[in-house]
Amino acid sequence: MSGLYVHLPFCPYICPYCDFAKWPLRRSQAKRYLAALSGELAVAPPFAASTLFLGGGTPNTFAAQEIADLVRAARQRFAPNGFAEATIELNPDLDLCSQETFATYLRVGIDRFSFGIQSLVPEELTTLGRRHSPSDVAEAVRRARSAGATNVSLDLIFAVPGQTVASWMRTLEAAVALEPEHISTYGLTVEDGTPFASWHARAPGDFVPNDTEADLYEAALDTLGAAGYEHYEISNFARPGKRCAHNANYWANGDYLGLGVGAASYLGGVRSVHTRDLETYCVASERGGEIPGEDERLAGAERAGEAAMLALRTAEGVDVAAFAERYRVDFHEFYRPVIEEMHAAGALDVTPERVSLTRRGRFVANDVCGAFVTFAG
Ligand code: SF4
Repeated sequence: MSGLYVHLPFCPYICPYCDFAKWPLRRSQAKRYLAALSGELAVAPPFAASTLFLGGGTPNTFAAQEIADLVRAARQRFAPNGFAEATIELNPDLDLCSQETFATYLRVGIDRFSFGIQSLVPEELTTLGRRHSPSDVAEAVRRARSAGATNVSLDLIFAVPGQTVASWMRTLEAAVALEPEHISTYGLTVEDGTPFASWHARAPGDFVPNDTEADLYEAALDTLGAAGYEHYEISNFARPGKRCAHNANYWANGDYLGLGVGAASYLGGVRSVHTRDLETYCVASERGGEIPGEDERLAGAERAGEAAMLALRTAEGVDVAAFAERYRVDFHEFYRPVIEEMHAAGALDVTPERVSLTRRGRFVANDVCGAFVTFAG
């Protein structure tokens, strides 16, 4: 597997918690960006992609035809036989979600629709600065289905200020009622430099405490599990056969190529990230030169540590034999102290063949995965 990621960084409005590379939509800027992106796509290194992910930002701020042209160009360059999976991230704002838009996406081979809905409780959507309503979400999904979509994913945020287990359950149950094939749940992170960071500095008590956040996560595991979703990665739940192949490649430490401002790539052990400055990106691409950014070669124990961290995020965990073959590292032997410590803490299931997070371990996954990276480093 190998994935192609394309970053489309414009949004109809800016949410106060977001620290992605994104800008409020200005048509002239977006047009210039698309040209720069096409330029980068044309001169990017040869790469065979099995999946495509159009992320943002809000990709559906672009006209459906612009997206179709971009996907055709990406396919021609990186996947002449088509992508095994092609995802687009979507804002459920109904002005951006006409049925014809979905039909255009489907015609060009986009077959997975990932809606950033965040919550289905109106007060929480207001807190998050989102302008859609729960009924907009239902209508956007209905339009996608009517156009022929068979793979819909909904992104949710928990630990929203003011959220309770009861209000989170309302969101979870309403999301399940929309019958998506896939649901992602992300705990709110207060990112430096965002309006939420200033709010948090002023009034930390407005934010959800850690023990409540654990209760919210537990509610998601129980509710989505009971509804038939497989919890296949810390933040991701899918109907059988509907895991996200593009993201599965990230967790398998596979190669991916990222195009666009702020986009990250991982190719042959080299991790790189493009500049997050829009002007710098556009100018570099217009001149046909290399996009400025940073890169870092991961080798030896560092590369293995990264792979361990990613694999532990998944339900399958680390396949010890495959790990030894790929990284020349005896997982049990090399990580013995950290495995023993985390196993004693009830965070890891350990067998000779496999090491994976327990249910308890999933609540502290960042700490457990971080311990493997630090140990390797
Ligand atoms: S959360 Fe999504 S829609 Fe909101 S500003 Fe960030 S990228 Fe744009």
